[in-house]
Formats: sequence, C-alpha cells, structure tokens
Amino acid sequence: MDSAKKQIAGHCKKLRAESEDAARRISEYAELSMLEQQSSALLREALQRHGFTIEREFPLIPNAFVAGFGDGEPVIGFLAEYDALPDCGPKGKGPGHGCGHNLLGTGSVYAAIALSKHLRAQGVPGSVKVFGCPAEETLVGKVYMARDGAFDGLDACLAWHPGAKTAASNGSGTAMDSLTYEFFGKTAHAAGDPHNGRSALDAVEIMNVAVNFLREHVPSNVRIHYAIMDGGKAPNVVPPYARTWYFVRGKDREQVSEISARVHKCARAAALATETRMKRRILAAVYDRLGNEPLAKALDANLRLVGPPKFTKKDKQFAKSLGLSGELSEGIADISTERGSGSSDEANVSWITPLTVLTVACWSNGTPGHHYLIHEQGVAPAAMKGLAVAAQTLALTGYDLLTDAKLLKATRREFAKSTDGKTYDPIVPAKQKAPIHDRIP
Ligand SMILES: [Zn+2]
Ligand SMILES: [Zn+2]
Repeated sequence: MDSAKKQIAGHCKKLRAESEDAARRISEYAELSMLEQQSSALLREALQRHGFTIEREFPLIPNAFVAGFGDGEPVIGFLAEYDALPDCGPKGKGPGHGCGHNLLGTGSVYAAIALSKHLRAQGVPGSVKVFGCPAEETLVGKVYMARDGAFDGLDACLAWHPGAKTAASNGSGTAMDSLTYEFFGKTAHAAGDPHNGRSALDAVEIMNVAVNFLREHVPSNVRIHYAIMDGGKAPNVVPPYARTWYFVRGKDREQVSEISARVHKCARAAALATETRMKRRILAAVYDRLGNEPLAKALDANLRLVGPPKFTKKDKQFAKSLGLSGELSEGIADISTERGSGSSDEANVSWITPLTVLTVACWSNGTPGHHYLIHEQGVAPAAMKGLAVAAQTLALTGYDLLTDAKLLKATRREFAKSTDGKTYDPIVPAKQKAPIHDRIP
C-alpha cells in the first residue's frame, strides 16, 4: 500500500467504532422500504458531522438524499441503502435487516467519509457524493432517484453488498417491471342479486389465468410473479374492487417491456370479460446491470490490498449457535461474472454512470437470503469485520478513481461501449410519487 492509501486506511480505522455503532442502530430501527426516516437521518447526520453537505432531497422520494464533499472533478459516488424487510426481525418476527442493509448503508457512508478526510488533509481535487437510497427491497428508490436526475454528472459510482463470500463483481442481473393492476366493478348481494354485480375479483382471476397461459409462449428465461393484494372482503358481497401486483423479469429492458405489454393485454381482456374498469400503474422499471471491467479490476486489486475479513473461532461458533454450518468464507474469490436471476435498482445507475459492486463476507455460508438469520448475524462481530473491509476497499477504489486519470478514462470508455449510445429512459411517470409497497402515497 502506498502512503496515500495507508492514510486512508488509517482514517477508516479511526472511524471503525463509530461506523459499527451506526450499523447496530440501523439494525435496531429496522425500517421498511420508504419508511426509513431514522436510518436516513442517522446517516445524514454522520455525513454532516464529518463535513459533508446535504445537497439534495427529493420531495417525491421520502428518505432519499444526496450528500456531497469537495468540489470540481472527477465526481465519484457511493450508493447507500438502509431499508429492512418484513418478517425478518429477531426469530422472524417483525421487520428486520434480512438483507444486511444496516451494514450496506453504513459501509458506503463511512467509505466516503474516510476518503473525504484524506482529500481535505492532502488537498486532493475532486468531489465525493453519497446517495442515500431508500426502498431497494421494493426496487423503487434508485429508479425514482435516477428519473429525477440524482446520478447525472457522476464520473463513476461504487457500491457493495454484504454476503457470504468476498469478491468484486462484474456480473449482471435481470431487468424487471413492477406493475399493479386495479379493477373496479360493482357490488351486489352475492345471493340476492348477483346479476347486478360486476366482480373485480373475477377480473383479477381471469387476468391471472390468462397470464398463466401466456407463460408457455414466452422465452424460457422470463419470470412472471404475482400476488393478489386485495380480493374482496367477504364471500357474500360481490367485490367491487380488487388488485394484483406483478413482477415481470427478463434478460434486458427490451424483453421486459415486450412481455409487460402482453401481460397488459391479459388485463384488458379480463376487464372486457367482466365489465369492470382496469387501471395499471408502473411502480418501478428496473434495468439489467451493466458490468465494467476496469472498475471491477480496480475494486479487486484494492480488495486484495485490504485483505479479506479475518474470522475467529468465536465468530464460527456464533454462526453454529444459530443452527448454521459456521463456515465463514475467509478468502477472496475471483471477480464474479455471474448473471443472477434477481434484480436490483442499482442496475439503473449502471446505465447512467460506470458502476461496480463489491461483495464482502459478513455471514455464514448457507444462510438463507432475506431471512432473520441475516438480521441476527448482521450485528455480530463477524459482520463488523466485513463492514470494515468493505468501507476500506470502497474508499481506496474511490481514491484511485479520483487520482488515476488512466483508470477513469478506461472505465468511461467501457461504459460508452456497453451503453452503445442509448439514452436512459426512466419509464416511470415524471410526477409519480415513490410507492410504499404497492401503493402510491
Ligand atoms: Zn440487499
Ligand atoms: Zn434484498
């Protein structure tokens, strides 16, 4: 490590206790998507205390913010998430950090703070931005922030996610639409005068049946999932209102848009058949993630400088006490090029600026995803070691992007190649408020 990187590592070390405290407090808050007031405020206050300015808040996106430090170019961003999940709290009861976002948000924020301290001390030019991104779990926050121009003007952006292994990622995921369909019918006594009723629930069911037939005639990689969010209140009342929530996933934006249009035809057919009125809302439109090889290589090189988290026997025993294998990944895996089947709203950022993501081991192998066992491991000493590795690796890579013009140029070149002249289309309507769950406030 050269002397600048040693200094940044020193700042990380000094900030470690404070960052661990923040991660534990956000875990306690366990606030669901779009309800993260306290978590967002805690991270904002930490940033302000360390010399960042809150540059932007978003009237249509609660709990989102942009914090900035320094001025001039380049401009490097860090993505912070802090939302919890339902039924992932202690023993699976109540909200909890079943995806480890208490660590995620904190790691990104303290990476940016450590980097800013070095910039200030050494007079290094450039700007550091932290993006407070609510509601990742509902795939909403960054979709709406991107629509409102939050990520415009960035030269590059870094993110991480806690996991069961340690590696830089140059992989991808699926594109996705989140859509809600409401049907409005006419109520009636279900036994007395059903002929006067027009059932909204019938419309939901016909739509779902039509979509289930559609499955045979879409490419095999396509995934369509739905949940009935409102299907009436009692069997003896013809339901005048019903709604269903769909996720449509595919390999890229073009494929998802094409399949969503066909799902929409099923909804129109259902409304026609049942003489109900149908209303569709596009809650989120997620892109497939673009990789960036130069950036992934820079992240990997810094990860190897920092070294993987060093877990102890006690860490393993703690995981075993939860009924897990207790195998905590101790090495650094090769850069991942995996194409996952899931989606993340950070993918939208990758179409606006070069983005790379790091994974750092914070919990035991075999831990189920979106689970209370992640919440319970997410405040343990092992997770705090992962948090420290993530913050330091991100800070060092941010430093490289600010000071190594050759790296930034290569990163930008790759970005231009992969976006191939396409301009980002947010798809979600311009003035639409970010939804809480499947409802627009
Ligand atoms: Zn997550
Ligand atoms: Zn998640």
